[in-house]
Amino acid sequence: MKAILVREFGAPEVMKLEDVPTPKPGPGQVLVHIGAAGVNPYDTYMRAGIYAIKPPLPYTPGGDGAGVVEAVGEGVKKLKSGDRVYLAHPMTGTYAEYALALESQAHLLPARVSFSQGAGVYVAYATAYYGLYHNAKARAAETVLVHGASGGVGIAAVQIARAMGMTVMGTAGSEKGLELIKNEGAHYAFNHRTAEYQDAIREATGGRGVDVILEMLANVNLAADLKLLARRGRVIVIGSRGDVTITPRDLMARTASVQGFTLWGISEADEADVHAAIAAGLENGTMRPVVGKELPLAEAARAHKEVMEAGAFGKIVLAP
Ligand code: NAP
Repeated sequence: MKAILVREFGAPEVMKLEDVPTPKPGPGQVLVHIGAAGVNPYDTYMRAGIYAIKPPLPYTPGGDGAGVVEAVGEGVKKLKSGDRVYLAHPMTGTYAEYALALESQAHLLPARVSFSQGAGVYVAYATAYYGLYHNAKARAAETVLVHGASGGVGIAAVQIARAMGMTVMGTAGSEKGLELIKNEGAHYAFNHRTAEYQDAIREATGGRGVDVILEMLANVNLAADLKLLARRGRVIVIGSRGDVTITPRDLMARTASVQGFTLWGISEADEADVHAAIAAGLENGTMRPVVGKELPLAEAARAHKEVMEAGAFGKIVLAP
């Protein structure tokens, strides 16, 4: 099969399309013919060798993907060949024609969701759901600010929060991004590249502040976020690319808190909860992954450059 291989950590160009043996499913495993692979920012940190998880070399990137079960190993019970599935951090990378997964890492994908959309399910929706429900313990009557709403996690958060009944505010850095997040359910959309947008957010809450902030770029925004919080407000740090200085008194004055998490650290029970919520959301149409760009697998390097650029518009996916 064709697969992207990383033989040394480094720039996007270290990813090469190669011919490798197609894996065979062992006991409890499934082999999935990949229809599309999702590209996430962490794929780029991992490829560069600067992520907390450093896979042994060579490796195939990709924790997100969707396709059809090609074959199942001994003892596999809930899946059979021909099933449409999305993958959640499978055993082998999804930037390939086939990927091997434990049965627990493959989840049924409803017919209404395309493979390209399915490639944007796991990381984006699990992160957004976990941040809102488990970390923030968000409630329907509250206001959420999705700070960085035009990308994969942000759109998922906007859709989920809107379906919950929350008042949803989102930010984007382009006109197209602002339009997108309004279409996906944001009651208010602000441009995080303008000087006065934080004043506009405060004004939109009538000066009260927001209850929950899902933060995609904490190193830039955390200090200002604390000043935007209502009493007992919570900032959930989802993304950060550096250090930041804050004023702790902003937290004290509001009895507020800052929490962070990574998807890799959640418990098995929480993982099951997340996938049950995703199954329902995909089925009832409240979770609708938005694909901004589809590229051929051979253009993985381009995808890694573009996922780190401004002007996000949903997910970037690779088609083998
Ligand atoms: P993405 O699709 O590349 O989207 C990035 C988002 O950040 C876009 O909405 C972008 O908006 C926005 N952004 C850019 N500049 C900003 C600013 N100054 N203030 C606020 N937002 C800004 O990435 P993603 O997949 O949604 O992931 C977002 C972040 O969360 C990444 O850092 C990723 O590594 C991290 N993450 C963490 C976890 C976890 O487990 N904790 C899981 C998934 C992702 P424009 O492009 O419109 O400007």
